[in-house]
Order: sequence, then structure tokens, then C-alpha cells
Amino acid sequence: MFGANVVGKWVIVIGAVGTLCHGAPVSPGQGGADVSKQAISADEGPALKDLTIRIVQDNYRSADRLEAAWGFAAHLIGPQENILFDTGSDGALLLGNMGELDIDPNRIETVVLSHNHADHTGGLVSLLKQNASMTICGLESFPTRFQRAVRGYGARFVAVSRPQPICPNVCSAGQMGTRIREQALIVRTERGPVVLTGCAHPGVVRMIEKVRALHEEEILLVLGGFHLGWAQAAEIQQIIRSLKNLGVRYVAPTHCSGDKARALFRQHFGAHYLEVGVGKTISLADLK
Ligand SMILES: [Zn+2]
Ligand SMILES: [Zn+2]
Repeated sequence: MFGANVVGKWVIVIGAVGTLCHGAPVSPGQGGADVSKQAISADEGPALKDLTIRIVQDNYRSADRLEAAWGFAAHLIGPQENILFDTGSDGALLLGNMGELDIDPNRIETVVLSHNHADHTGGLVSLLKQNASMTICGLESFPTRFQRAVRGYGARFVAVSRPQPICPNVCSAGQMGTRIREQALIVRTERGPVVLTGCAHPGVVRMIEKVRALHEEEILLVLGGFHLGWAQAAEIQQIIRSLKNLGVRYVAPTHCSGDKARALFRQHFGAHYLEVGVGKTISLADLK
């Protein structure tokens, strides 16, 4: 379904109603009867020269002055829009850590919610109370009352189902999974795509396979929860092999990845394993 033969461009499939975040740079594409299955090139401009990711909430800790708690949130600097990926478990913790990291809640333009679990959405209401002019990119499967509550604050809710652009060089891989639905965020950089996962409930390998179907280049970095806390070593080693075969160059497993998985990833990726936790800042320059 996805055009794997398209080089150096996003290949995006959009719905007929075009539920795009923030006036994304897309065009309706070329003819064809079924618009919903039309592959279009959404992003032909130059890729990002630099990208900085700061971990705002995590149960692992990289900086003493920040509060660590179960959950995940990360802030992106580099894309055209000011983006927060997930909001952690708690508003006071999120806003406190954002303050420590000098991230102004009023300047956040887009919040991407990986999935509807409280350790990823728990800080949203506090953020909305500070800044109601954000666009919230959740999933089409989020409960109606959730979507209505977001709109009730005056914010825009975008219900992602298929892969779609969020702003230039930033794209959702679309809703994945069956039991627990989730989206991964893809940021296109000069050095290859960077992928953020919340918990990777659909399976981190499956999610990266989907990213590779959308983008031909090798993946520079996968960062986030890999959901391997209860996985056996043999399963984790198979996942490591699969990710390497899929062209993943750097990994930063955190949140629900588990200590055992982090140790195995460290062992197998060596210098290409990044140890991250709350307070950690990663820039492209760190990925030699
Ligand atoms: Zn989860
Ligand atoms: Zn989680």
C-alpha cells in the first residue's frame, strides 16, 4: 500500500476529509478513484539540519534536579512547530520539569499523544489550562469524551488514523495496534528519520517496519518506551536483531523498556546505545 519506491520523500496516505494537523504541506495528489488510499508526497523541502530532544518526564533519571516518575514526555526543538510528545502522568510534575528545563508551556503549539494511557496523557489538562491554543494530535480511537474535553478547553483535537504530516519534517506513522492503539512520531532529519515511541504497545519492531514502509532511509534513532519490561532475554535479542536489520542506527530505550532490555541494547548497540532519562538532552551532534 505504501510506495516504498519513492526516494527521499515522505509517502503519506491521507483520508478523503484530510484531517491534518496545522495546515500541513500536502496536496491532494494525482487523480485516482480512491482518495483514501492515494499515496502522496507530503514533504519535499529540505530535511532538518538539527534536532534536539529533551526528556521532560521519565521513570529513569538523567538529571538530579528533575522529578522522575512513571510516564513519558519529550520536547522537540528543531521542527517548525514547538512540539511536545506525550505529557507524562501528572500536570504538576510536567509543568515543574518544563520550568526546570526552561520550556514555556505557552509556546507549545502541538502536543502529540502516543496513546491513551494515563502515564502519557496525565499532564494534558494542566497544560491545556495554561495554553488552550494548542493542537492536540491524538488517535481516532480516543474516547469521544476525551476529544470533547480537549475541544472544551478551546484546543483543536486532530484524530489521527492513517499516517499524516504534523508540520514540515514531522509526521505521525498513523494509528497502529489492535488492543492498545498507538502512534509513533517521525522526525525527518538530514541524517535520517528519528522515531519517538510512547510505550510501543503494538511492538517496537512492527512500528519500525511501518516507519520503513513510509521512509526509505535508514533510521537514525529510535527513542522512547519499547515495552519490554517482562520480556525474556531471547525475545529481546531477537528484537535487537530485527531492529538492526531494519536499519536502526541508534537506540534510546527508556520508560517501559525495562532494565534487562536496556542492558541488552547497551551490550549489542555499544556506542550507538543512548542512556536516557528525565532531563536528558539529545542532539544530532551527539549521534556521531
Ligand atoms: Zn502504555
Ligand atoms: Zn507508558
